Amino acid sequence: MELSRRVTSIAPSPTLALDAKANQMRAEGIDVINFTVGQPDFNTPERICQAAIKAINDGFTRYTPAAGTPELKQAVCGKFKRDNGLDYTPDQVMINVGGKHSGYLVMQALLNEGDEVVVPAPYWVSYPPMVILAGGTPVIVPTQEKNKFKLQLAELEKAVSNKTKAIFLNSPSNPTGAAYSAEELLPVAQFCAERGILIVSDEIYEPMMYDGAKFTATASLSPLIYQNTVTLNGVSKAYAMTGWRIGYMGGPVDLIKACSKIQSQSTSNPTSIAQKAAVEALNGPQDDVKAMVEVFARRRDLIYDLLNQIPGVSCFKPEGAFYAFPNFAAYYGKKAGDKVMTGSSELCEHLLATAHVALVPGSAFGHDECIRFSFATSDELIKAGVERVATALAKLS
Ligand SMILES: *Cc1c(COP(=O)(O)O)cnc(C)c1O
Repeated sequence: MELSRRVTSIAPSPTLALDAKANQMRAEGIDVINFTVGQPDFNTPERICQAAIKAINDGFTRYTPAAGTPELKQAVCGKFKRDNGLDYTPDQVMINVGGKHSGYLVMQALLNEGDEVVVPAPYWVSYPPMVILAGGTPVIVPTQEKNKFKLQLAELEKAVSNKTKAIFLNSPSNPTGAAYSAEELLPVAQFCAERGILIVSDEIYEPMMYDGAKFTATASLSPLIYQNTVTLNGVSKAYAMTGWRIGYMGGPVDLIKACSKIQSQSTSNPTSIAQKAAVEALNGPQDDVKAMVEVFARRRDLIYDLLNQIPGVSCFKPEGAFYAFPNFAAYYGKKAGDKVMTGSSELCEHLLATAHVALVPGSAFGHDECIRFSFATSDELIKAGVERVATALAKLS
């Protein structure tokens, strides 16, 4: 069968593939320590599960409006106001089948063949394929580790052309763990807003901020930036609800209308039951979120210390999300037998095969020098896993 050029030009999500491989090895009886997981290791809070059970028992099991239930849209508007000081009306928000789907729909609604979208690297694995599937061209802009991989205005200026339609920003970041302050975000956002470049601000890791740092929603920076931003968020990470598949976004009415039209012709609507659960997630008491973030903060201190103790490895302290992105370039070129560790992929393959530690190579995120560690796993496994990595690295020659 001859498949479309669109689909043959992308690869499956490498993070999902690596997670599947680690789980398969474990099913075969191999004691794999898995640092690839991009999801909280907590269960969905009971209050949220109960809301879903009630929805089923109440017979709330039919199609909903394409853009989501009025109740959940109202809850999303309330959340944006409460947490971000953002005024979105219900016609400016919509509910999607996960935050990933929100980004996909925005690209489908926005791009014509050849339009460019700026993607700062290291990037989340799904941004470039989302652009390509919509017929656009991702323009990858490398950022510097010394700036904690935060996009600088000068880097952005060089990447923008008259075909630039949008930019992806992700703070706190997957994979780097960096989080922009308002001061760091403003020049970049201002530049885009002044040129009518849509800022697609992926804020899915909003609650995971450490050391008392304040989260800044891009759209809250100024009225002009608000007009030129679509804010993507969801319940997957904040409420340990990755399997429920509920994301949401807020932005300009015409864009939301366009995305709703595509959703109405593709998925129809997100699951009715999951929407009820998401209402409870957003409107209910938020103590469970706080408790989760406290645990992540402790693990982040732990993994940061352990990684920096490995000779030749360096890592800045993650400011948000649940990832560390240490630099392993000192080991590139070293050998295990006659196998050369030419880059992050080869090193991760070696570590999985010999140390039984699953990691995501930086190459998957457009930055080969680093390797991503998710610390959404227990203290014990963090300690044991990093020790295995250190031992395997010491054996390279
Ligand atoms: C997990 C994640 C999302 C969204 O995940 P969904 O489960 O689709 O809601 C979006 N952006 C980034 C950077 C993520 O890591």
